[in-house]
Amino acid sequence: MNRHLEELIELSKLDRAIDDFNPVVEKLQSKLDRKRDKKEEIEKLKLDLEATIQETKVKISSFESQIKVLKEQLNSSAKREKLVKSEKELKALRTESELAKEGISNINEEIDRLNILLDSQEDKLEDLEKKLKKARDDFEKFYSEYMDRMERIEKQRRELFLKRETKIRTIDQKVLAFYEKIRRWSKNSAVVPVRKQACYGCYMKLNDSSYAEVIRAEEICTCHHCGRILYSAEA
Ligand SMILES: [Zn+2]
Repeated sequence: MNRHLEELIELSKLDRAIDDFNPVVEKLQSKLDRKRDKKEEIEKLKLDLEATIQETKVKISSFESQIKVLKEQLNSSAKREKLVKSEKELKALRTESELAKEGISNINEEIDRLNILLDSQEDKLEDLEKKLKKARDDFEKFYSEYMDRMERIEKQRRELFLKRETKIRTIDQKVLAFYEKIRRWSKNSAVVPVRKQACYGCYMKLNDSSYAEVIRAEEICTCHHCGRILYSAEA
């Protein structure tokens, strides 16, 4: 076999092995992203719910202050009732007291409603905290697995790159440039086998004379259909 062709076959195998890490890295990265997104989504829900709970508490405390004011009003009306001189004044005071009592009762109902709401919000928060802990643990666990695997991949990748560097130093520069040019569009299928007289890059059948050239392998042959470098896999 032509020496240049032999070297290109080896180089293309190295390039394919280097490229093969890409989908693995992408998969790891997207798994990590999904786990981070899930964790952050729950963190956001938790923050929102905490703000809502705070609002509910502020509402309750504002209603409680209103009740306090109304109760003071009731006490002062009761005191003033003892001092009034006319029926008219007494009637006015009584109406004022009735209104205050009604107000207190309405506000108490509202506070009861808000307390029920607060209970359910706090239950939800507890639930979210559990979910968040699980999502955080899940993320942390996967993160260390991710780092380990990435480190191993980087090491393997570096080794392959070094091998590639060594390899391309021995390859004729014109042949290498020719290979790189094809690789630009064909990615890691710049050098492909021929099987059953077909190019395994474009899967088109070669004519008899091209096929014979590929089998002879005296020089670098390319596919007349797609332009990839061919070698016979049936030798
Ligand atoms: Zn082809």
